[in-house]
Amino acid sequence: MSFYKLLNEYKKLNIDKVLNKVSDSDVINVLSKDSLSWEDLLVLLSPVAENHLEAMARKARELTIKNFGKVIFLYAPMYLSNYCVNNCSYCGFSVVNKYERKKLSLLDLEQEAEKVAMKGIRDILILTGESRKHSPLSYIKDSVKVLKKYFHSIAIEIYPLKTSEYASLFNEGVDGLTIYQEVYDRKIYDQVHISGPKKDYKFRLEAAERACLAGMRRVNIGALLGLGKWQSEAFYAALHASYLQNKFLGTEFSISVPRLREHIGDYQEKAELSDRNLVQIILAFRLFLPRVGINLSTRESASFRDNVLPLGITKMSAESTTVVGGYSSDDGFEQFAIADNRKVDEVKTVLLEKGYQGVFKDWHQL
Ligand code: SF4
Repeated sequence: MSFYKLLNEYKKLNIDKVLNKVSDSDVINVLSKDSLSWEDLLVLLSPVAENHLEAMARKARELTIKNFGKVIFLYAPMYLSNYCVNNCSYCGFSVVNKYERKKLSLLDLEQEAEKVAMKGIRDILILTGESRKHSPLSYIKDSVKVLKKYFHSIAIEIYPLKTSEYASLFNEGVDGLTIYQEVYDRKIYDQVHISGPKKDYKFRLEAAERACLAGMRRVNIGALLGLGKWQSEAFYAALHASYLQNKFLGTEFSISVPRLREHIGDYQEKAELSDRNLVQIILAFRLFLPRVGINLSTRESASFRDNVLPLGITKMSAESTTVVGGYSSDDGFEQFAIADNRKVDEVKTVLLEKGYQGVFKDWHQL
């Protein structure tokens, strides 16, 4: 059964009704368990669980140290192109936003790679807008050939691919995939993806599975928080990660918690999500998924990142830019605004002060 089919089985579930029925004793009971069911996950996402964040945090911290140690993996994103054929209402790269688009030549890319590698980063996430025409697989492969000289681990965040295409990128040296469903609520998905191939909900939802079948070593998923109601979005994203982890035992999974940020165009947060709500999501993820990595990007402020660090985070981006060629030049448009602008060394120092080790490498492809 694919996750798409599994998701359909939850169609009749009235999440609000379940969340509103949760009592303090339900939360205490869940906190005493070693392994949690999907019903337990909903208990942790309920309004009542907000009264138990400290107890949840204690347990989340213990589980994280037990499964991951006091180590935070540091990586950086690199934008190769901002050409995109989709009109997503929440993104600055949307095809309807009119500005001069840019795509890195292989020479530009090498310059960017040198700049990022000089910061100590060895794990790179390459991103493009979703345009097969401007960023065909051949371009991604050529880019990977260049990046291999500088980085030990290369992940992609591009348009969803077929299994054979993921396999061909894996053979070229791509070992990781990030793909966000953006919003699991199908009605909202259809509303915010106004036009373009991204309207195909199922093809996107099953991309993570296709990547696993193609041999990808690590897969990162998530919902773009702020589009749908946070409790249900967090619930379905966690179910998705749990499904993948149970099905693909040889793949390492992580989940991200990106919050919608300002961007060019008509920016609108559709569903509210406070800092406290985001903390609750991170804690619920850690308790429900003790062995799944949790990524926190520079979309969040330095102080927020520092404060939530011990609650379950295992991976962070550092000194990021969301501009194509942004490591070499200040020109260009951001996909969204960055909130933590600290240098890699500053992030490393803060980690050390908090008793954590920032690591740059845990993998080397032979
Ligand atoms: S979210 Fe992705 S697909 Fe949508 S407009 Fe932005 S870059 Fe394009």
